[in-house]
Amino acid sequence: MGDLVVVENLKKHFPVNRTLLGKVLSTVQAVDDVSFTIREGETLGLVGESGCGKTTVGRLVLRLIEPTSGKIQFAGTDLAQVPPRELRRLRHQMQIIFQDPYSSLNPRMTVGQIVAEPLIRHGLARGAECRAKVADILAMVGLDPSYVRRYPHEFSGGQRQRIGIARALATRPRLIICDEPVSALDVSIQSQVLNLLKDLQQEFGLTYLFIAHGLNVVKHVSDRVGVMYLGKMVELADGDELYNHPLHPYTQALLSAIPEPDPTAKRERIILTGDVPSPINPPSGCRFHTRCPKVMDICKRQEPVFQADQSNHWVACHLIHK
Ligand code: SF4
Repeated sequence: MGDLVVVENLKKHFPVNRTLLGKVLSTVQAVDDVSFTIREGETLGLVGESGCGKTTVGRLVLRLIEPTSGKIQFAGTDLAQVPPRELRRLRHQMQIIFQDPYSSLNPRMTVGQIVAEPLIRHGLARGAECRAKVADILAMVGLDPSYVRRYPHEFSGGQRQRIGIARALATRPRLIICDEPVSALDVSIQSQVLNLLKDLQQEFGLTYLFIAHGLNVVKHVSDRVGVMYLGKMVELADGDELYNHPLHPYTQALLSAIPEPDPTAKRERIILTGDVPSPINPPSGCRFHTRCPKVMDICKRQEPVFQADQSNHWVACHLIHK
């Protein structure tokens, strides 16, 4: 399968401090020089702490916000160059599932209206055909089609997230950005929703960018995994390779925090000290150097280059690329 999404040197700097004349005094470097690809039909997991830029990356890929610079290609089309009409056509091929199933559904709309809304907006169906499609989609996500007249508050968190998934599926997209889709759910419900997403991917050949806080959630759904820290991609590799041979000290620390199911297995817990620095004035050199247990002098002066080895394992760390 070829690449469905190609992201190159993507930056998003939000101005946060302006003079009265509009001159920008400082910016939040939410995403800074991030590059990756997503192959058609795969799941790319994207993890990192709050504020690392992963959600901003998802919104940039959908063009919900404009990049400061860099390239985003979808199905061979450069989204920055595409005229608005063509962008609307591409939009129904790209959808999003939001983190919070409680706030992401309009409480004044029925389930039927919520799922039908993208079909009507993109001119894909109306009337009886639209109602039939909505019933089909609800059944696909494991909800009774008779729920169409009910309102979101009548459902549990897991059911509401199924409604959110149905809304994202309605236009039969090729790409779905899953923005922490299970983090607001009970642990007992999380695996049901993850299994549903996997089944739908198989059935419809969907491509996912799966954003999550921790590596434990993306482990079961991702083909490849990228790790972000303070606006930068610091490591990217096949899932098994990343979990078995993490190279970046930050990834090693995140992995060490995952509970080990085998009580005889010994894994050293790496505790990171200090807070994540401000993205308004990030540290010089390697942005992780203020918390890295393996920091060297060069790390404070020189930014490590994000490079791959022969097995396509990408990492930005002076320990690896000397
Ligand atoms: Fe740590 Fe230096 Fe590698 Fe950054 S470049 S992760 S500070 S060892």
